[in-house]
Amino acid sequence: MKKEFVFVILLSALLITLVFFTTMPGRKRAEEKKTETSVSETTPTVTTTEKKKPEVDADNPWAFYIVSKEYPLPEDFTVYPKKIQDDYEMDYRAANYFLDMKEAAAADGIELTVISAKRSRQYQQQLFNQEVESFIAKGMSDEEAFEAAREWVALPGESEHNSGLAVDLNDLDESFEESDAFKWLSEHAHEYGFILRYPKDKVGITGVKYEPWHYRFVGVYHATQIKEKGITLEEYYDEIRGD
Ligand SMILES: [Zn+2]
Repeated sequence: MKKEFVFVILLSALLITLVFFTTMPGRKRAEEKKTETSVSETTPTVTTTEKKKPEVDADNPWAFYIVSKEYPLPEDFTVYPKKIQDDYEMDYRAANYFLDMKEAAAADGIELTVISAKRSRQYQQQLFNQEVESFIAKGMSDEEAFEAAREWVALPGESEHNSGLAVDLNDLDESFEESDAFKWLSEHAHEYGFILRYPKDKVGITGVKYEPWHYRFVGVYHATQIKEKGITLEEYYDEIRGD
């Protein structure tokens, strides 16, 4: 009995010693690890917060929106116009960029002539009605003519011209793409905040036929991004919003 008791005491002492020495450094290591973890956890948190902030350093944010069949302008949308040529007007803020572009083109021997700019809702409706009538004259029913006209002319609020941010230049014909003016615009329009809004290879995305004459003001930063990426305003808009 006595011998067994001593053995149990010795065994217990041995176990306590073992537990003490094995756990102590372990605890220390765990504490060190904990400190390291909290430091490394802090760093990515800061990075994540920074990433969430919009990094877009854009000029003229007021000009960055889509106008289309899908995104029509509100009925009470107002444009504060400025004359850019003859009776043609643009949004007064975009107008200054257009005039700078026209001047720069002229300095390079290129004439940019405005053939359409800001349109009122009434005028847009008039253009649409004329188109409907021309299809009716070709023998279509009212309904067929309405649908056919919709392929070619926008309804009030659905045209970028209603926003005062778009201009049609020189020639409403696809052959305009072969002109020196088109070449100049392809190289320089973005420097003045303008984009070729309805490119040839993007009809499926814009929903609008190729219009080499139609330029839209979006601001210099966005125009440069869109040109460099070779994408449409729709695609760029989705990219920016992270869709
Ligand atoms: Zn146009």
